[in-house]
Amino acid sequence: MVQGIANWSTEQSREWLQSYVDDWVAFYRKHTGDGKVATYIPELAKANPDALGITIIGKNGLTVRSGEVDEPFTIQSISKVLSFIVACMERGVAYMLDRVDVEPTGEAFNSIMHLEMKQVKKPLNPFVNAGAITVTSTLNGRTSDEKIEPIFALLEKIIGYRPSLDIDVYESERDSSMRNRAIGYYLLETGYLESDMNTTLETYFKQCSIKVTVDDLARIGLILANDGEDIDTFEEIIPRPIARIAKALMLTCGMYDASGKFATYVGIPAKSGVSGGIIGAVPPRVREEVLPFMEGCGIGVYGPALDDNGNSVSGIRLLRHVASQWDLSIF
Ligand code: GLN
Repeated sequence: MVQGIANWSTEQSREWLQSYVDDWVAFYRKHTGDGKVATYIPELAKANPDALGITIIGKNGLTVRSGEVDEPFTIQSISKVLSFIVACMERGVAYMLDRVDVEPTGEAFNSIMHLEMKQVKKPLNPFVNAGAITVTSTLNGRTSDEKIEPIFALLEKIIGYRPSLDIDVYESERDSSMRNRAIGYYLLETGYLESDMNTTLETYFKQCSIKVTVDDLARIGLILANDGEDIDTFEEIIPRPIARIAKALMLTCGMYDASGKFATYVGIPAKSGVSGGIIGAVPPRVREEVLPFMEGCGIGVYGPALDDNGNSVSGIRLLRHVASQWDLSIF
């Protein structure tokens, strides 16, 4: 672990942190061969399997970026955090928690096993597809464009520009995602959906196809780390109770069926997506020594080669290393 120094915010210490991260990215890039890019959405198969990028933005603005930081990718499952936040803002937390539970599943993200086998009354959490599609069905609006608009508006507030949709990825998933359609029909049959199924799925595929970079993910992570408040203007972007539930869910359910291991070995609220993105929200920590990013930070990672759980293989290893070196764990 790095030694504590008096102040990690000077330009000299920033360069120091930067050189560490550059070395770690170069090292973990060699691990990308241990994973495979997702192919079940055909368009995602075009990603560069060797890409690896990370951005870390501290509450004091201190920023470290390394690797493929400018390569845009689709947000995929990380959008489930945003749709859940927006749904809670529109409908209220109690309403949403009546419709979707907050328990980890231990199953793959696109499984409906629990719903079927345990006859549970609602999807187990908003980050598995069944829960996320249920959440999307509760968004206000009649059309998919109306439903998705507040997600764009929230993103624009956080990242400072209006992101675009990757139409090719959207169409690719829309035309190939039989599993999500199956989940949609199942949810329709069981009465979970609150909007027309096709409109819901269209919205869900669109939200997954929003284009972002690791810088954007780090900014979103930072707002969450800061309990929903903008670090410069102090504006409440996300109500604090909602930001806290989102982080609790990220910690317990954010990395699919590897969430327990990630919480144990990395220890930060995070959410991954099949395009290889990971968002991390590191709250302020209390330690005796002065450590980098002590006052909290947001992290964005991109590495499209995935492990068997569908998480970025080198992204997870890189995050685990950064977290252990800089003692980022919330525990
Ligand atoms: N759009 C993808 C899907 O629904 C998102 C899944 C993911 O990122 N894990 O299959």
